[in-house]
Amino acid sequence: MTEVSNPPADQPKQPGPLGRVAGLWFAVPLWQRIIASLLLGGVVGYLWGPGAASIKWIGDLFVLLIRMAVIPLVLVTIVSGVAALGDPRRLGSIGVKTLLLYLFTTTIAVVVGLSLGAFAQPGLGADFSAATPQVLNTTESVGLKITDVVPANVFKALADGALLPTIFFALLLGSAILATGEKARPLASLFEAASEVMLKVVAIIMELAPFGVFALIATVMGTTGLGVFASIGVLALCVLGGSMFQSFIVHGLVVRLMAWLPVVPFFRGITDAMLVAFSTSSSSATLPVAMRVAEENLGIKPAVVSTALPLGTTVSMDGTALYIGLLATFAAQAFGVQLSLEQYLLIGVTTVMVAVGTAPVPSASLFMLAGVLTTFGITPEQTAILVGFILPFDRVLDMIRTVPNNTSDLAVATVVARWENEIDVEIYKSSKDV
Ligand code: ASP
Repeated sequence: MTEVSNPPADQPKQPGPLGRVAGLWFAVPLWQRIIASLLLGGVVGYLWGPGAASIKWIGDLFVLLIRMAVIPLVLVTIVSGVAALGDPRRLGSIGVKTLLLYLFTTTIAVVVGLSLGAFAQPGLGADFSAATPQVLNTTESVGLKITDVVPANVFKALADGALLPTIFFALLLGSAILATGEKARPLASLFEAASEVMLKVVAIIMELAPFGVFALIATVMGTTGLGVFASIGVLALCVLGGSMFQSFIVHGLVVRLMAWLPVVPFFRGITDAMLVAFSTSSSSATLPVAMRVAEENLGIKPAVVSTALPLGTTVSMDGTALYIGLLATFAAQAFGVQLSLEQYLLIGVTTVMVAVGTAPVPSASLFMLAGVLTTFGITPEQTAILVGFILPFDRVLDMIRTVPNNTSDLAVATVVARWENEIDVEIYKSSKDV
């Protein structure tokens, strides 16, 4: 009788070929996989040309998945973050510091945009002959209305994906849990568990980021491509240079000088969020990733992550402010308006207000442009020509300006967390890979 020898139960099973590929794939940190797919997507799109649009659906799927997480994540993390504060007065302190810092960085962004426009003069000799005028359904009033913030029906606000009313309700709910005390403890634990779970949902979705980013970049490179730099070279270079300056120098200095923290771990920690902002052109789609990297890589505690970041996504738009300021000077030069110092000031103030009210979605800036251009006499017809001129190239410019929109939120959250002692500096400095 032959004896059948089974392998001992404790001997580890050898992975099959598929398992080995998966092992290799997951051994590379996610941010490196995303960078690799971004570069590869760029090359593939460039070689493939307009046909690359056939894989756009993969990118759209990724954006849908990540947007799906936004409202539940914001709701549960704000409630649990506020409930964890211990003292409701701390919410006011965090809120005031956050808003003032947002105003500060956005003001710098407008100054950068206006200065670039004034010195590089991208609008001189602009040729609008090929532009088809586009009338966008612009908002008549700039800035925020109270009805944008306080929802009449909270379930409708949630269903519509309206961020500001959701934030407002969640802040109120969290404060009420805090004020109720012991009796509301089960609810606080429930929301705490729900935020952990939602962050896990984001982690799962992010595993698809390399594929989504690949498809998004390939589509853009195959359709608009680098033509943007050939067609509107100086303006595109101003957007690129200004956005990089705002993210790496201004926001880097904010972290260094105001949070007294080294900058390299900051940018290393937020790479995923920067890449998703760049490829989706949407701050709101980037919000879940930003919240995840802030908590897991930068070591910022939930109380600040959950309040500063959703607020920043909606109100703090440095890239948008820079872009609108730049386009205002572009329009003035192209239509032959000589701007006085007072007009520059007026444009600056209006742009900050407009940027606060800009929706964190692709191409939103263009809808807000009219509000600023009217301040120095640009007519609706001229605005329509300008929008028609810029629209074919806006996607690439949008990708670039959405990055500082997000780095400003993360830099300000880092500073507020440091001031409020809500950051684990060990985690921040260790630049852990997630
Ligand atoms: N796409 C930008 C964002 O989502 C908004 C804009 O400037 O158009 O942040």
